[in-house]
Amino acid sequence: RAEAEKFQFQAEVSRLMDIIINSLYSNKDIFLRELISNASDALDKIRFLSLTDKEVLGEGENAKLDIQIKLDKDKKILSLRDRGIGMTKEDLIKNLGTIAKSGTSAFVEKMQTSGDLNLIGQFGVGFYSVYLVADYVEVISKHNDDKQHVWESKADGAFAVSEDTWNEPLGRGTEIRLHLRDEAQEYLDEYKLKELVKKYSEFINFPIYLWASKEVDEEVPADEDEDEEAPESKSPEEEDEEEEEDAEKEEEKPKTKTIKKTTYEWELLNDMKAIWLRNPKEVSDEEYAKFYHSLAKDLSEDNPLAWSHFTAEGDVEFKAVLFVPPKAPHDLYESYYNSKKSNFKLYVRRVFISDEFDELLPKYLNFLLGLVDSDTLPLNVSREMLQQHSSLKTIKKKLIRKALDMIRKLADEDPDESHGDKKGSTSDSEEEKKDKKGQYTKFWNEFGKSIKLGIIEDATNRNRLAKLLRFETTKSDGKLTSLDQYISRMKSGQKDIFYITGTTKEQLEKSPFLERLVKKNYEVILFTDPVDEYLMQYLMDYEDKKFQNVSKEGLKLGKDSKDSKEVKESFKELTKWWKGALASDNVDDVKISSRLSDSPCVVVTSKYGWSANMERIMQSQTL
Ligand code: ADP
Ligand code: MG
Repeated sequence: RAEAEKFQFQAEVSRLMDIIINSLYSNKDIFLRELISNASDALDKIRFLSLTDKEVLGEGENAKLDIQIKLDKDKKILSLRDRGIGMTKEDLIKNLGTIAKSGTSAFVEKMQTSGDLNLIGQFGVGFYSVYLVADYVEVISKHNDDKQHVWESKADGAFAVSEDTWNEPLGRGTEIRLHLRDEAQEYLDEYKLKELVKKYSEFINFPIYLWASKEVDEEVPADEDEDEEAPESKSPEEEDEEEEEDAEKEEEKPKTKTIKKTTYEWELLNDMKAIWLRNPKEVSDEEYAKFYHSLAKDLSEDNPLAWSHFTAEGDVEFKAVLFVPPKAPHDLYESYYNSKKSNFKLYVRRVFISDEFDELLPKYLNFLLGLVDSDTLPLNVSREMLQQHSSLKTIKKKLIRKALDMIRKLADEDPDESHGDKKGSTSDSEEEKKDKKGQYTKFWNEFGKSIKLGIIEDATNRNRLAKLLRFETTKSDGKLTSLDQYISRMKSGQKDIFYITGTTKEQLEKSPFLERLVKKNYEVILFTDPVDEYLMQYLMDYEDKKFQNVSKEGLKLGKDSKDSKEVKESFKELTKWWKGALASDNVDDVKISSRLSDSPCVVVTSKYGWSANMERIMQSQTL
């Protein structure tokens, strides 16, 4: 054995591993899903490279893109191998010793307090979940650019890497050997593994095989002892050949008896269904939910809120499946402006290309999960060239439309949303209606901010997005309402949509700006999210109605009467005195107003100036 080089794990990795090792309550099953997902990523990578350079795949066994799982009950080893891209020595040290992703500290913190490891995949640290079930792990890897190496660690703060001079050559790819802990022996059970693959990895795009035992009746020569040769591992093809040979031998010896024998063979565990290629009418809700879970990086059991599966035809052809997750990822808005990683996958003719394509979806739709598979895009070009392909613009445009339609439908079908002014879907059974009850509110609470960001960023779809907007008003009674509903309740003669911005509903309801409006039975939208201030700088009108901030100049409640002109005249001296008394760089003007009922006076912002609330937001940002 060659000399092993020793390394210390990055401090954060060490802490993470301690948490994993000592975690009593986590779902240990997740390690398998993480390993399979890593194998699948590695296979995607080599397949992608092979598009422009066939040589990288090599020949024979090496060119087979599959995942193989094997159990060694005597040695208590579970091993998983892929023929993916593999890792060089440098890769092993970097990828399995450090965490590159920012925010990992926060994650480690969070796991320490909550003990919930379900989010591990989301943070790019899924590999370490192997220590949920193993106390010693070996990673054997062969990359085209390097010799075969072994990484190994007992999770004691250190790992070792050595050139591999003793294992069988892998050709290319990675084999991970888990030396299972005593309390994790259940993972040596074939049935358990089959179940887990079915549950978590059914939609992996590469075949997953298990070296599985099989009881067979076998005819053996009557005069010979039972053949107890240990089963040997062979690739699925070699297996077939062997069976043929056996058949020939049997013909030669006619005197036989029947015995039970355990044989081993590669059993395919997943059927690699590409759901998006199927007719949407033939895919069940359960299948969509399962497919969603295979794409989602957290392990929550909640089903998606909505999905859309469609085929686009014309100049640019593609198929797509979009999902609205049940929950926003923890860092959706934290990393809004700097994260590149989306949850959206691009395939070209069934080949996975990338999930980091900024050109597929606008940032504000980053919360969607799903994929696009296009026949129009070229396969054999670099990622950079694909990124500039003109078809992407068309794909993006259609995806946005479909996404907004899907969200609108979620609202239309929610019985809580219809207030007699909407048709709703009459075809739904009572059962279905109950399922959809409250779904839009759920959506709004998780992703409402994304819709607002969309209104700010996407001028083309501003009106569509505005339709999806929800808010509370002075009349909504604690419930959410929409612009359409607001308009349907507008008083006759009311031209503008009234709104006010502030920090809380309670604070706004006490505002003197609202006094008279409320008394006169006008409805006012209450915006309390900091982003609302920006939102209203972009949302100028809706359905031919202008928005009027009631704390700003220009509020009109119907026509000025003759009376008010007389009042203005009679208070002229007072307003003049006020203006003089307040320094002119503090106020622009002093006016008689009809907007108040109880308060004697109010400070109003000019039409194009910042509202007091915006002033407050800006101040808090520059501090
Ligand atoms: P993530 O998959 O989110 O990047 P992981 O902790 O699961 O995080 O894996 C860390 C890194 O280790 C991967 O990004 C990859 O570079 C490398 N890796 C893990 N498993 C394999 C594998 N089977 N083949 C090649 N590289 C792998
Ligand atoms: Mg991973």
